[in-house]
Amino acid sequence: MASLGIPQNTIEVLQKYHFNFQKKFGQNFLIDTGVLERIMDTADITEQDCVLEIGPGIGTMTQYLAERAREVVAVEIDRALIPILEDTLSAYHNVTIINADILKVDISKIAEEKNGGRPIKVVANLPYYITTPIIMGLFESNVPLKSITIMVQKEVAERMQVGPGTKDYGALSLAVQYYAKPRIVANVPPNCFIPRPNVGSAVICLTRYEKPPVQVQDEKRMFALIRASFNQRRKTLVNGLGNAGELQLSKERILAALDEMGLPSTVRGETLTLEQFAVLSNLLPS
Ligand code: SAM
Repeated sequence: MASLGIPQNTIEVLQKYHFNFQKKFGQNFLIDTGVLERIMDTADITEQDCVLEIGPGIGTMTQYLAERAREVVAVEIDRALIPILEDTLSAYHNVTIINADILKVDISKIAEEKNGGRPIKVVANLPYYITTPIIMGLFESNVPLKSITIMVQKEVAERMQVGPGTKDYGALSLAVQYYAKPRIVANVPPNCFIPRPNVGSAVICLTRYEKPPVQVQDEKRMFALIRASFNQRRKTLVNGLGNAGELQLSKERILAALDEMGLPSTVRGETLTLEQFAVLSNLLPS
């Protein structure tokens, strides 16, 4: 089958199957061979790799992955795409197609069955409406992972990569940077997709740390503090944390911790680094 990265080939497949795009599934199919090559180079797929692709669509990127990887597992929610995938991927014997919602799939089990429990690579042009739950699900459920190379909305890629002192910095930046090293590798304009999305896109590679870059006694506690700090972004940290009832923190305790860290009582959460949130959470156990 000729490359689906060439627009005319994608259009032929869509017409052959009378495919109707489903907006609710965030369907924007890639039609740019240069971008596809860039994603492959970034993910550094070799014949050792077992790759999970989330949302293969009509199989455009899946073909590229199947050419390079040992094993590809592609999870697609839209039942109408399954017969198309069976057609466009019929030449490959290293691809397994699963018709399911990725948020309900036991990915660790896939890694166990297809890769003997060794770390897998995730590669995807993600459905943008569930970018954050997919990424956080992958990290928090302790799926054995080498890296995640994904196309996401440009602003979301920036949020994952920035540090303190910028408006995009928030809970997502800190969560991603606790688990992985982020690197934006390309900006991708809407005309690289069919249909065109209303937003710009970017490819970002998240390389999983073997050990987190900071030492935390209780990860859940640190993320609860982070969430509370950014929920009330414009408040001082003392008020933001003090107002979050579930944390059960008195203002005195918070002030004492800030004092120990050499931070002023007026400090805002958005200025704290991951390292400082780690120290703070170790000083304020539940
Ligand atoms: N990979 C294809 C490409 O690059 O041309 C399609 C990418 S498109 C942005 C996102 C794909 O994810 C669609 O095929 C959509 O049906 C699928 N999808 C949406 N929600 C999903 C979910 N919860 N689980 C699995 N696949 C999903």
